[in-house]
Amino acid sequence: MGGCHSYISSSSRDGDTASKAEEFSDITGHNLKNNNTQAAPSLEEKPYLMQDYVSERIADIDIKTLSVLPDGFDKAEWMASHTIAFFKHINMLSSALSDFCTTRTCPTTTGPGDVTYYWTDEHGKKLKCSAPLYTDYTMSYIQELLTDEEVFPTHTAGSSFPNGFVFLVQRIFLYLFHALAHLYWAHFRDVVRMEMHPHLNTLFAHLVTFSREFQLLEPAETAPMEDLISTLCLHHSS
Ligand SMILES: [Zn+2]
Repeated sequence: MGGCHSYISSSSRDGDTASKAEEFSDITGHNLKNNNTQAAPSLEEKPYLMQDYVSERIADIDIKTLSVLPDGFDKAEWMASHTIAFFKHINMLSSALSDFCTTRTCPTTTGPGDVTYYWTDEHGKKLKCSAPLYTDYTMSYIQELLTDEEVFPTHTAGSSFPNGFVFLVQRIFLYLFHALAHLYWAHFRDVVRMEMHPHLNTLFAHLVTFSREFQLLEPAETAPMEDLISTLCLHHSS
């Protein structure tokens, strides 16, 4: 089976985070241990690729096995329960970092490579908005869907998920992915200062692994984060 079998225990994360943060100003000399990298990206631009950080995750777990639908489980219910859990965790992480993500620091919503994420309103119009506003729009949209009995029925006995359920889950995953991509791209230094990078890495690895298991994210959407994904040992899609 695929998956990453070389997760490194977080026992080494007691190291001096403050001194690591200072290293940000002098990280271009670090070697990137990423065999997939043809042209090494700038670590100043992408500090989240530094080996010291990508190796830090919550626990030594097999996320691939954790994501696969177990025998006897209903697929839609499995996807629904994970969607709710991912939303809660990512929303909590975003909220914890909201002091750093303001209209001043993030007047647009950017991801790796300075890609801009647009909010699409109810009329289908694309809106360029600040990251906090984008987060507010997307999280409110997701919350509304998750609490809609017609979309995410809570009465499991005999419950039926609507047509288009997978499409809505895909849209939710896209917004959750954007939320994490923005944190990596625009706030990774803040994440490290808050010592949340093991949580972020674990959450991101789990989200991407789960989305690949159920084809919830387009490869074109995840491409800007592919360097991190491969570094986190998530190349098991083949
Ligand atoms: Zn931001």
